[in-house]
Amino acid sequence: MVSQILDFIGGEWVSVDAARQNVINPASAAVIAEVLLTPKEVVARAVETGHKAFLEWRRVPVGERIQPLFKFKQLLEDNLDDLARTITNECGKTYTESIAEMKRSIENVEVACGMPTMMQGLNNEDIASGIDEHMFRQPLGVVAAITAFNFPGMIPLWFLPYAVATGNSFLLKPSERVPMTSAKLFNLLQQAGFPAGVVQLVNGGKETVDAILDHPLVRAVSFVGSTPVAKYIYTRASANGKRAQCQGGAKNPVVIMPDADMDMTTRIMADSAFGCAGQRCLAASVAITVGEARGIFTEQIADAAASRVVGYGLDSGVQMGPVISPESKQRIQTLIGEGEQQGATVLVDGRQKTVNGYEDGYWVHPTILDAVDPASDIAKTEIFGPVLSLMHARSVEEAIALVNSRSYGNMACIFTSSGAVARKFRNEADAGNIGINIGVAAPMAYYPFSGWNDSFFGDLHGQGHHAVEFFTQTKVVVERWPKEWSRTF
Ligand code: NAD
Repeated sequence: MVSQILDFIGGEWVSVDAARQNVINPASAAVIAEVLLTPKEVVARAVETGHKAFLEWRRVPVGERIQPLFKFKQLLEDNLDDLARTITNECGKTYTESIAEMKRSIENVEVACGMPTMMQGLNNEDIASGIDEHMFRQPLGVVAAITAFNFPGMIPLWFLPYAVATGNSFLLKPSERVPMTSAKLFNLLQQAGFPAGVVQLVNGGKETVDAILDHPLVRAVSFVGSTPVAKYIYTRASANGKRAQCQGGAKNPVVIMPDADMDMTTRIMADSAFGCAGQRCLAASVAITVGEARGIFTEQIADAAASRVVGYGLDSGVQMGPVISPESKQRIQTLIGEGEQQGATVLVDGRQKTVNGYEDGYWVHPTILDAVDPASDIAKTEIFGPVLSLMHARSVEEAIALVNSRSYGNMACIFTSSGAVARKFRNEADAGNIGINIGVAAPMAYYPFSGWNDSFFGDLHGQGHHAVEFFTQTKVVVERWPKEWSRTF
């Protein structure tokens, strides 16, 4: 019998009589677990339990609230191998990519351990004679996160450490396609010593999400996933009076100037476009070569794509795993075909290929679409697979205009050895995360993850100081202590 992924409510693993869904290893198509699809009334139970826990937890001094996070960090490090194997098995990425993911996750725990300093308020003495003013940060209550499949270890930890360190109780609804990593994280959170109800997990899909969005005791919702769902969650959560921060999809352009170090650029671009099988919201998905960069980059990236080793992520030497599901595979292959119909040339074709020994896996090999028309649909659609589109521009101005013509704004990068060109790009590119000679401009945990436009709905982003502001409300106190009341004892 495969393992059962349950909910973690009130400090215990809870099974309820409800529908389940298979969890599948995308490299082999084998069923590796079954996950509970939590019904509305169980979500309500979790939220009410979280609210009770919050009333105690918010009174625990911040210096004590971070102690379980220190233990959690150590537990994450001690269990790195097991967590990485779990990520590879349910999500498909390579073992090396899974280890890297967990290291970025741990960073967020480390940053949140600085909460005694990070959540400090403001004050002024004598705003008028004998009157002082202070601003405190107080937690909100129960906060929830609804997360995407592609970073099952990292995305929940973009939110959880900050939420609990600021004094909230936290409820996670992970992607039902990759619930095993979250279950492992919650085993470790349990060992780390959080009081019952402070960190909770409910599994499921849309019904579970809607129950979270509609529950009046949920005060804030963090979301990571596709743009249509991000818009839906932002709208419904806001209509219900909740704070919301919703990170959506992407189509990230990268400009390659003729003066770029072409070997380095190609190596980084291949990792960015095909790493995690292109299922990364910061994947390079459009390369815009400027002038003479076209010939050499096109040749080199085609070689890099064709020679990438695709396979099961726990096998040695594998550089790229499968995509998440048969539906994803079908969608990506259809989009490649539509790109071709819209005038692009399929320079490297990753369709209809498999991997020996894993014939049932969901394989799409690296693919390059050349001469993509910037006005075509394929130039604007998020493919979320190992497909790099090539476009060409005559000048940096034309390239920046192409960068700024998309509806998304998660990331834009440039490869150049000119400081002036890099500076112009940094200033003018319409995206919230910018890379200069960097292929995946993922902000460190102490910076906000700054998606813009259709890649983000909300005001305050995840991570760093934005997370502290998102998970707290400010209270301003003005107080008068007249001199005449002073006593000498
Ligand atoms: P998704 O939108 O399908 O699912 C995300 C979450 O929303 C899951 O927990 C899922 O259960 C839930 N959900 C799905 N449909 C829903 C609905 N109709 N109503 C309510 N809830 C629903 O996304 P995914 O396929 O898991 O992840 C891939 C997407 O996430 C890509 O578009 C990618 O760009 C994006 N992403 C963005 C970032 C970022 O930081 N901006 C990071 C990672 C992934």
